[in-house]
Amino acid sequence: MGFKTIFVATLAAVALAKPIPDPLHVIRQSGPVAGQVITRCNAPGQLALAYDDGPYQYTQQLVDILTAGGAKGTFFVTGTLYGCIYNQRTALQNAYKAGHQIASHTWSHPNLGGMSTNDITNQMTRLEQALINIIGVKPTYMRPPYLSTGGNVLSTMRTLGYRVITNDIDSEDWNRKSPQQSQQKFQQAGAGGNGHIPLMHETYSGTVNTLTPWLINWAKNNNLKLVTVAECLGDTTSAYKNGTANGSSSC
Ligand SMILES: [Zn+2]
Repeated sequence: MGFKTIFVATLAAVALAKPIPDPLHVIRQSGPVAGQVITRCNAPGQLALAYDDGPYQYTQQLVDILTAGGAKGTFFVTGTLYGCIYNQRTALQNAYKAGHQIASHTWSHPNLGGMSTNDITNQMTRLEQALINIIGVKPTYMRPPYLSTGGNVLSTMRTLGYRVITNDIDSEDWNRKSPQQSQQKFQQAGAGGNGHIPLMHETYSGTVNTLTPWLINWAKNNNLKLVTVAECLGDTTSAYKNGTANGSSSC
């Protein structure tokens, strides 16, 4: 083999070794489309534990339980529902730093379904500003209070670039169901098919201290990876956008 042949062969090898961009992969990286309702993960073998209505007094406990269990969770937080969001600044920062996903559940938890585009936008941007002040970024995922996706909700979320998450299992912790009754819901739904995105609330001690450890164990027994909502939708890069802090620390 002459020098020229080796040179050409090397060039060919380098060209072959170079990864060819896979269009599906590029789409997957950019994340799901904004303004469309998503109820579950887009691949099997995973479970996206998702908690609404915080931050509250159990947020840090929940972060610790998830992290100790090797799990990633998603926190759909509000600005004022269970006290001012700035009261739980440290717990939110810890959640974010530990790789849990912080997402929006609006500023004050209204039913967005009957509201004007302008009022819905205010609900989203007020929470965005608080999150920029607390964790340095704003979310691109949201879950509407009461799972209300009618009226101007989806068109506004499309405009604002929000991925709209609802659920495919309802733990009914909000409806006075015990953790044991919630567990049955997961067992009935089963571990097969694309991953579940359950509706749960971090504002109940039973959900944080009983249901969550049980779910971590259930996932392990069923070989399910406990990932964030964004991760279970194949989105590893676009759960947040940058923003500019404004120095506020009160609601
Ligand atoms: Zn809620």
